[in-house]
Amino acid sequence: MKILTPVAITLFGCFQLHAHDLSDPDGQHPHAHDKPAQPTPVSAPAPKSAPPQAAPFAMFAPAVKTRWDEKFLFIESNGLPAHNMMVGITAWQQQVPLPQNYTGANAWQLPLVPVPAREPATIRDRFLRGAIAIAANGIPIFNPQNNRGEISLDIGELDQWGGHCGRADDYHYHAAPLHLGKVLGPKLPIAYALDGYPVYGLTEPDGSQPKGLDTLNGHTTPALGYHYHASEKYPFVIGGFHGQVTEREGQVDPQPRATPVRESLQALKGARITGFEKQGTAGYNLTYTVGGETGAVAYSILPNENYQFDFTQGKKSKTTETYTPGGKRPPRDGANTRPKVREEPAAGDQPRSSNGTFLLTSPVVEDKAELPKKFTGDGAGISPPLAWKGAPAGTRGYALIMDHMDPKGEMKWRWEDRQLDQPRHLPVKPCHAHYRRNSALRASRTV
Ligand SMILES: [Zn+2]
Ligand SMILES: [Zn+2]
Repeated sequence: MKILTPVAITLFGCFQLHAHDLSDPDGQHPHAHDKPAQPTPVSAPAPKSAPPQAAPFAMFAPAVKTRWDEKFLFIESNGLPAHNMMVGITAWQQQVPLPQNYTGANAWQLPLVPVPAREPATIRDRFLRGAIAIAANGIPIFNPQNNRGEISLDIGELDQWGGHCGRADDYHYHAAPLHLGKVLGPKLPIAYALDGYPVYGLTEPDGSQPKGLDTLNGHTTPALGYHYHASEKYPFVIGGFHGQVTEREGQVDPQPRATPVRESLQALKGARITGFEKQGTAGYNLTYTVGGETGAVAYSILPNENYQFDFTQGKKSKTTETYTPGGKRPPRDGANTRPKVREEPAAGDQPRSSNGTFLLTSPVVEDKAELPKKFTGDGAGISPPLAWKGAPAGTRGYALIMDHMDPKGEMKWRWEDRQLDQPRHLPVKPCHAHYRRNSALRASRTV
């Protein structure tokens, strides 16, 4: 019998899964699967001094960095604000804030010379995916509507700062981050719309009330030219784009994309997030209540850049998962269209969810070989015989998970079954057509 480490079975087949297949109801956050942002222009000579648009972002340096060329201001951040997050959310998709790589060619960009559009583009029921503006602290601002047309703020999806996390665990606002005014003062905008026009707070820089706002929440003044004002009610940030933007697949294009390290989750009905604390240098602990029980998601970025998540709920269950960032994409020149095979764990890594003695084995699967056809959707699709041993005392059930690398090089995972109490022969079909290419099986235990 061949012994398999939990991440070692590599399967080849004709796997296809697209972002749109995912059932996440908050589907406006799928940057991870969008086309690549346009590469940063490198040929234009950059102005020597910072353009005025850089000023509000400079207030959040060094977390937020700017650079520019003659056409664009580029804004870089890791997508995590200095303020706390998540507390108060009552409609939670179980996503948590993870740092994002909004840098380099994946930075935010603003035109230095915005161009008024012939026809302003409303954001009502449009631009429901991706960001419509970038806040001065480097956090993207999304449409106040989710993709079902609901106002996120009204249905408990947002924390007290107007933000929450998308399915790539990317933190973003759906309301105006008026709290940034405490750092910025009244003279600087709190955000820039992606058309390049600034978004000021509730008042003009001199403290007076804005007059004669148009349907986009904007107006023109001699001192500032065209600009928007945030509001405490809809549309919160901008009612639409006064300036030219390119709309592609329901979002402003180009814009950065977030990279998931794990599969997105479903809403946890009845949950309320009660706490969020930083732990150590690269860890967080999110606590919540649901059905009279308390739960927690403690997670951290390990020195090997894996992500360890400890899930607890009530007194019964604790589950640990470790995710390897697999979202590294193939080169953009398209030269390498073959999906990447998962990289081997670095030497010394423990297999996932294992204390080193927990073994998943199969007599029919060769390590790093193709899964025999009869166990795939191309054949009979039957379950391969699997067995495991070495589970610690107190194990109450098992879960079998299949990892796969999709054609774009994104690592995803799927629960195949939970709480299996008959580990000797698994009544699951891990080789369904959806899960077959470049996939890896792994097992975890519930104790
Ligand atoms: Zn959102
Ligand atoms: Zn104004």
